[in-house]
Amino acid sequence: MSKYTIGIDVGGTNLKFGVINSTGKIVSRFRLDTKRYLRSKVKLIDALSQSVLDVIAEKNIKTKDVLGIGVGLPGLINSKAGIVNLLPNIPGWKNVPFKTILQKKLKIPTFIENDVNLITLGEWKYGAGRGVKNLICMTLGTGVGAGLILNNEIYQGEGFVAGELGHMPINERGPDCPCGGSGCLERYVGNKYLMEKAGKIFKNKNIRLEDVHDLASKGNIRAVQFWEETATHIGNGLVGVINLLNPRLVIIGGGVSNNYKYMSKTINKIVQKRAMKVQAKMVKVTRAKLGDDAGIIGAQVLVAKNIK
Ligand SMILES: [Zn+2]
Repeated sequence: MSKYTIGIDVGGTNLKFGVINSTGKIVSRFRLDTKRYLRSKVKLIDALSQSVLDVIAEKNIKTKDVLGIGVGLPGLINSKAGIVNLLPNIPGWKNVPFKTILQKKLKIPTFIENDVNLITLGEWKYGAGRGVKNLICMTLGTGVGAGLILNNEIYQGEGFVAGELGHMPINERGPDCPCGGSGCLERYVGNKYLMEKAGKIFKNKNIRLEDVHDLASKGNIRAVQFWEETATHIGNGLVGVINLLNPRLVIIGGGVSNNYKYMSKTINKIVQKRAMKVQAKMVKVTRAKLGDDAGIIGAQVLVAKNIK
């Protein structure tokens, strides 16, 4: 019987690999520095395939015991056709039939999905969202996004681009956003903008968000306020989605969620104050549970869903 899934999370910094058993546990892991392969699509694909073979060999797993490979990619992915339409931050990736390429090389069934959707699948099946039928999984990082589980299915939208919560306008007169819009939530809570803001507040342009976290943990009032203001923006962004979708749960993940304890009170306060009564009463906001592993674990969910 096939028992293992190979999960791959393609990020701008790391290529993360995991061998996952049928209960969603990572039994082996491996990572590569993405930057070494960014310039060449062929090199990236070769490194990725070789690593799959290495990671399988290392665990003495036979190819026939691998149920499938699931890959999460940061971009526009047609998961149905197995095509990478575009990876905005990795040059050369436009309309690449990635599923077919990997399957030919490795002779293992392969499935691809947007990385935020994989994180969402992981949190839904094995993390903070277990047993919940309708949820939103928000990821806070350089990009701000969300995956949607509606009626126990991932919702992808007509063109596989649903869930762009970071580009929900929260201010009609807000600053321009690289997406072409303006006043988007990401312009207030995306890493880059948070760092710029922290640089001004703490008069140190090299300050990292981890430093603002440490300052808050020591009780620095400006740092605590910084996270509360961030939470206010996040809360306001969520109110619209909660009113629209009436979810049971909102999961907050991504790097910035490390500050969840400084933000949870404010996020919940805003949701309870501003969302409509029925929606507000039903929804719970919580922190993601699987951390960095969510995408790799989500790969198991993706593969299992496609191979019955
Ligand atoms: Zn935008």
